[in-house]
Amino acid sequence: MRCTSGERYQAGSFPFGRPGNDINHLRSRTPMNMYKKPLPQINDLNAPYWEGAKLKELRLQKCRNCGRFSAEPVRLCMSCGQDAMEWVKASGRGKIWSFGIFHKSYFPSFAEEIPYNVVVVELEEGPRVYSNIVGVPQEEIKMDMPVIAYFDAVTEDVTLVKFQR
Ligand SMILES: [Zn+2]
Repeated sequence: MRCTSGERYQAGSFPFGRPGNDINHLRSRTPMNMYKKPLPQINDLNAPYWEGAKLKELRLQKCRNCGRFSAEPVRLCMSCGQDAMEWVKASGRGKIWSFGIFHKSYFPSFAEEIPYNVVVVELEEGPRVYSNIVGVPQEEIKMDMPVIAYFDAVTEDVTLVKFQR
């Protein structure tokens, strides 16, 4: 069975979803919000992704030179090395490539959701991304299950891309 160490990733906030220490500046922008989980760090490189998410668009970078998509924002194409990456709207469709159900909380803010899932979705365009499945009982999550993007506006500034059946 394919397996990944998904617990190292903050669920649902790919492509820069690893729990970071420097998140207070994001929290301070949404003082009235009750969202307590780690938030992504938005920068000039990944901003188009997060702007798209707020518009309920899943955006990916695609190389104008070789046509390859990138799962994580990059300045140069990881395939051909050209400075030719552009943001395009993805279909939002994919299938579950790997998943895990977590029974231990690595952050206090996740404790109330145990058990929770972390999945790797293989997008129609090719890249694989870490996320969560929402609205599906944990026991029904299966390999190769077709899924479609679900946009979860967790704060005024951040919409996380999750997936649903
Ligand atoms: Zn390329």
